[in-house]
Amino acid sequence: MTTNTEKIFAFIDTYTEESEKLYLEAVIEACREWLSGGAQPALSEIPTKEEIRRGIQLAVLKGMKRNAQPHHQMTPDSMGMLIGHIAGKLAKGNQDISLLDPAAGTGNLLYTVMNAIGNEVTATAVEIDDLLVRLSAVTAELLEHPVTFYVQDALRPLLVDPVDITVSDLPVGYYPDDDNALQYELMPTEGHAYSHHLFIEQSMNHTKPGGYGLFIIPANLFESEQAALLHPFLKKRTIIRAVIQLPDSLFKNAAYVKSILILQKPFAEMKVTPDVLLAKVPSMTDKKAMSLFLQKIDLWAGE
Ligand code: SAM
Repeated sequence: MTTNTEKIFAFIDTYTEESEKLYLEAVIEACREWLSGGAQPALSEIPTKEEIRRGIQLAVLKGMKRNAQPHHQMTPDSMGMLIGHIAGKLAKGNQDISLLDPAAGTGNLLYTVMNAIGNEVTATAVEIDDLLVRLSAVTAELLEHPVTFYVQDALRPLLVDPVDITVSDLPVGYYPDDDNALQYELMPTEGHAYSHHLFIEQSMNHTKPGGYGLFIIPANLFESEQAALLHPFLKKRTIIRAVIQLPDSLFKNAAYVKSILILQKPFAEMKVTPDVLLAKVPSMTDKKAMSLFLQKIDLWAGE
């Protein structure tokens, strides 16, 4: 039987293959047609938000493979689902959760998290690439998620009120705009700053006291050349709540292995500094080990 996700992908893919436009541009057009009622996927029942997200995701992956661009890197579901689960637990019991993704790309990570949290959630997405913003904006409309978009360098001043949870799959590398970087504590005295460091600082500046930052980071973040600058910053300005190592098997190249860093913004009522959770995600195909791991995460999040 064909699933709703497959039907949605087939609708977008057929529309796109018939178009003369660049694949990703045509994906946006197919989604707009769907929104306006001009053309529809052949669905026998109303799709869930996750089915819509996954159907579009399959088309976007195909488009990114066809016209590879170095910064077109959608966050894979293996990481998105885990961050969604953790964000859902941290948000539990609170109404009207606000989210920020300062490097939102296609929005795949952000929408996975929004779908995991549920209905009462709003978000702000910042992204420098105009095509990715148009793609993520049309996806948000189909998902009926209230999202405000900013097409800009997220490390420049952001007109965003502090949010409950910031999530981001951080862009990794050097940030070339030294003048702008001088406004950050994490600008080194010599050379360019690491953009992933500045993104952490900017994200925590836009997170409410008591709120959380959930980041996909390079696994060697704490051993890198500029780690000596990062350590005191994190100690002074944030509470490190967890460092979760992702399985090596998720990454083709050992040099690009990632982890998840969870920070909390200090708040006035904080009495004791909680212990840092240091954990390693087991092989995601090992259901029993994965279920035990998620139980551990749930206990930690409930503390
Ligand atoms: N989570 C995204 C998704 O699911 O599609 C993928 C994020 S990707 C790893 C990092 C993104 O950061 C890219 O889309 C890139 O264009 C964006 N980016 C890089 N530098 C930026 C900047 N200074 N301001 C805003 N966005 C930036």
